[in-house]
Amino acid sequence: MSTPDADVIVVGAGPAGSATAFYLARAGLDVLLLEKTRFPREKVCGDGLTPRAVKQLMNMGVDIDAPGWIRNKGLRVVGGGLRFELDWPRLDRFPDFGLVRTRKDFDEIVAVNAVKKGGVRLMEGVNVTAPVLDDRSGHVVGVTTKDGTTYRGRLVVAADGNSTRLALGMGLHKRADRPMGVAVRTYFESPRHDDDYLETWLELWDDDTLLPGYGWVFGVGDGTANVGLGLLNTSAHFGNIDYRDLLKRWCKAMPAEWGFTEENMRGPIRGAALPMAFNRQPHYTRGLVLVGDSGGAINPFNGEGIAYAMETGEIAAEVIAKALRAGTPAAQERILRTYPQVLKDVYGGYFTLGRWFVEAIGKPGVMSFGTRHGLPHPRLMRFALKLLGNLTDRRGDASDRIINALSKVAPPA
Ligand SMILES: Cc1cc2nc3c(=O)[nH]c(=O)nc-3n(C[C@H](O)[C@H](O)[C@H](O)COP(=O)(O)OP(=O)(O)OC[C@H]3O[C@@H](n4cnc5c(N)ncnc54)[C@H](O)[C@@H]3O)c2cc1C
Repeated sequence: MSTPDADVIVVGAGPAGSATAFYLARAGLDVLLLEKTRFPREKVCGDGLTPRAVKQLMNMGVDIDAPGWIRNKGLRVVGGGLRFELDWPRLDRFPDFGLVRTRKDFDEIVAVNAVKKGGVRLMEGVNVTAPVLDDRSGHVVGVTTKDGTTYRGRLVVAADGNSTRLALGMGLHKRADRPMGVAVRTYFESPRHDDDYLETWLELWDDDTLLPGYGWVFGVGDGTANVGLGLLNTSAHFGNIDYRDLLKRWCKAMPAEWGFTEENMRGPIRGAALPMAFNRQPHYTRGLVLVGDSGGAINPFNGEGIAYAMETGEIAAEVIAKALRAGTPAAQERILRTYPQVLKDVYGGYFTLGRWFVEAIGKPGVMSFGTRHGLPHPRLMRFALKLLGNLTDRRGDASDRIINALSKVAPPA
C-alpha cells in the first residue's frame, strides 16, 4: 500500500471543511484541505451570521474585530402590518450579537485561519471527482481529481456542499422525506447597507398566496445590501415559482429610497438549494465522513447553515481524532460509526421539530394565521426567536427549558 498524502483529506473549503480541518490539525493530525475554486470566490448566500456562528468563529480565533465585520444586535421582523426589533437573547452559551460578512471574504478568512493557526495544508483549484476505494474493503482511501491526480488519506471528509460528489459517489442520495429550501439573492447599492439589525420579511406573496419562507435585507456595510428570499418545498407552489421574478417583484414593492432597482444591482440574482434536517444520511460510511451541507445540516426553522457547517465540522473532527488514535482498524471503525448517532443526539430532536414546523407552514392558511395572530405578541416573538435560532442555555429561563425539553422528546431526525 502506498503511503498516505495526509492523515485526513478534507474536500471543500467552505465553513464546514475549514472548521473540520482546523480542529483536526489542532488535534495534531496532518490535514490536506482540497478546494475546487480559488479564493477569493463568490458563494451564493445571505451572508448573515447568528450568535451561533459568531461563537464558532471566536472559538477558532478568527479576528472578528478586524475591519469588514458588521455587527448586529438582533432581528427586525416585518409582517402582518407590523415592524419590530428583537434583540438576540442574552445567554451564557452564545454571544449576544450577530455579524454580516460576504462569503467572498468569509470563506477565505476561515480557510486561511485554519492554515495559519492549525497548520492545515490548503490546495486551491483542485476539483475532486470521485472517492478512491480499497478493492478489498470497499472503504474510501483517497480521492481522485479532474486532472487525474490521486490523494490518499487514512480518512476522507466530504465538506463539498449540497452538490457533494463524494457522498453521491458512495451512493448516499437525498432523502425525499426531508424539507428542502431554495433561496435567491443579489446585492444592491443602497442606503440600507448599514443596519444594526438583520431584517426579515415574513410575507412573501405570489398573487394572493402567502408562501412559506421569508425575504431578507442584510446590510453588508460596504455600500451594498444583500437582498434575497428563501422558500420551502413544503408548499404545493414550490416547483412552479420563478424565484428570480418573485425577488424582482418583491424588491419593486420596497420603498423607492432604498434603491432596490436594476440600475443599483451589483451582480446578478443567483440561487441555490438549502439541504435541511439531515437530508443525506448516514453521516459516516466506509471511510467517508459528511459535514455541513453535504450531510444536509441546515436548520429547517430558519435556513441557517453556516453555524451548523462549522459545528458539525468540530464534532466530526473530535470523533475522527479519537478514531485515528485507536489501536486497531476495528476499534477505529467502531468509533467512526458513532458519529451519526452523536449528530442525532445533538441536533436530531430539534431538527424534527423544525420539520414539523415547515410541514405546518406549508399548509394553506397556517402561515397567514401565524403572522396575523403571533406577531403582535412580543413575549411569543422572543420565544420564537430562541426556537427558530436554536439559541438557548442548557439551564436557562422557562422558554429555554421548554425548547430544550421539546427537542429532547421529539424523535431524532
Ligand atoms: C441564497 C442562500 C442564502 C443563504 N443564506 C444564509 C445565511 O444568511 N446564513 C447562513 O448561516 N446560511 C445561509 N445559507 C446556507 C449556507 O450558505 C450553507 O449552509 C453553507 O454554505 C454550508 O457550508 P458548507 O461548508 O457545508 O458548504 P459550502 O459553503 O457549499 O462549501 C462547499 C465547498 O466545497 C467546494 N467544493 C464543492 N465541490 C467540490 C469538489 N468536487 N472538489 C473540491 N471542492 C469542492 C466548494 O467550492 C465550496 O468551497 C444560504 C444558502 C443560500 C443558497
